[in-house]
Amino acid sequence: MKYISTRGGMEPAPYSAILLEGLATDGGLVVPQTVPRLTAEQLEAWRSLSYPELATEVLGIFATDIPREDLARMCRAAYNPENFVAEEIVPVTQLEAGISLVGLSEGPTLAFKDMAMQFLGQSLEYVLAKTDRALNIIGATSGDTGSAAEYALRGKDGIAVFMLSPQGRMSDFQRAQMYSLADDNIHNIAVKGVFDDCQNLVKALSGDLEFKRAHELGTVNSINLGRISAQVVYYFWAWLRASDGAAAEDRASFEVSVTVPSGNFGNIFSGYLAKAMGVPIRRLVLAANENNVLDEFFRTGVYAPRGAADTHATSSPSMDISKASNLERFVFEVVGRDPERLAAAWQELAETGRIDLTAELARFEAEFGFQSGTSTHADRVATIKSVFDASGTVIDPHTADGVKVAREFVEPGVPMLVLETAKPAKFPEIVLEATGQRIGMPEHLADLLSLPQRVTEMSGDEDELRAFIAEHAVER
Ligand SMILES: *Cc1c(COP(=O)(O)O)cnc(C)c1O
Repeated sequence: MKYISTRGGMEPAPYSAILLEGLATDGGLVVPQTVPRLTAEQLEAWRSLSYPELATEVLGIFATDIPREDLARMCRAAYNPENFVAEEIVPVTQLEAGISLVGLSEGPTLAFKDMAMQFLGQSLEYVLAKTDRALNIIGATSGDTGSAAEYALRGKDGIAVFMLSPQGRMSDFQRAQMYSLADDNIHNIAVKGVFDDCQNLVKALSGDLEFKRAHELGTVNSINLGRISAQVVYYFWAWLRASDGAAAEDRASFEVSVTVPSGNFGNIFSGYLAKAMGVPIRRLVLAANENNVLDEFFRTGVYAPRGAADTHATSSPSMDISKASNLERFVFEVVGRDPERLAAAWQELAETGRIDLTAELARFEAEFGFQSGTSTHADRVATIKSVFDASGTVIDPHTADGVKVAREFVEPGVPMLVLETAKPAKFPEIVLEATGQRIGMPEHLADLLSLPQRVTEMSGDEDELRAFIAEHAVER
């Protein structure tokens, strides 16, 4: 499989070449040149595979330039019982009539980003060793993405991580999770200021091409195609588990729908790829919180990113987005994979602040299978409570956004799978509000808060950060 840019300005490149890049060289996003469609027999042949075995098969379709035995080794290392609490890696469990949860939060940081990051950690280290390169990851985090990246990249050869976070603005849990990592290649930097100040520093240094090249700086944000491809695997897995109980002759036509708590459109775009590859997914239901630019887009056909003033801090914070960085990949499909029409749409966005695709709106559901809905704080509280009262299960606020919207789209005879994107232990306040229960730390993390912490404090001065990176960057 080769990869091209949505803007049409990049020579087709293999997987290991695009793994290290975020954006395509022409400013577009990297997408597969063609997506192969698997047969029902091929899917059926994968039914008995373990999660790492299935990951090897599915990622083998994307990473055609990596030898199969190397890929198998990386998938075993990424998806092993030492990193994941559940033995099956991704448990699929019934929540209520018609709705099941896909447990994507069994990894080290209790959130679904581990699913992709753990594989990315393996594959980045592998590709860097092959090409004799080093990579210094620089990122800004208000909590979750940063910790998933650090846990995936800790101790990796040829890689260092410089993660900026706003001083005093993360939860005790998030701080403990990141700052307790003692690996030499992990550098936590607490910046005086807010998340945007951290983000601006990252942008300033990444935009300084000379500095960037001199210290081999890179990022692993949600547009990274390595992450997108690793997320495709669990849509295959979830369908296989949901259809396990069906009679053999019914399996090929056994459909599920999937609801995805969404922010930057990365997770659900992976679901779209799985559907395009032949997984019998009937509907992809996008669940948004109050920051519902994407729900608006799927209901009206108009994409209108919002400013900082219109972006709310909610109780499902990992979905608090003002624009959706992966949406360009979907718009590329909508405009018939025509780079000129795509570029025109982004030109329209730059000039008018919106992209108007109302003429294509009917196709969003009919052809691509998308539906969408919004959930608010009151909905999250009510949903966490109703699920707890009925089943005793505590779900996290992002998953609650998913369950709320999923309930609106359940169809008789079509199992609805809701992706569990985080564990409730990370969000004790809303759990207490909804259920009256004080939720404790999972057993295996019980002593996290008492571990020694290590962090470098900085004023927010660009030169101070440059000097720190120059001193601690890895080289080959
Ligand atoms: C990142 C994240 C999301 C949003 O995922 P996208 O791929 O950005 O759509 C949802 N829930 C949780 C808990 C997350 O960490």
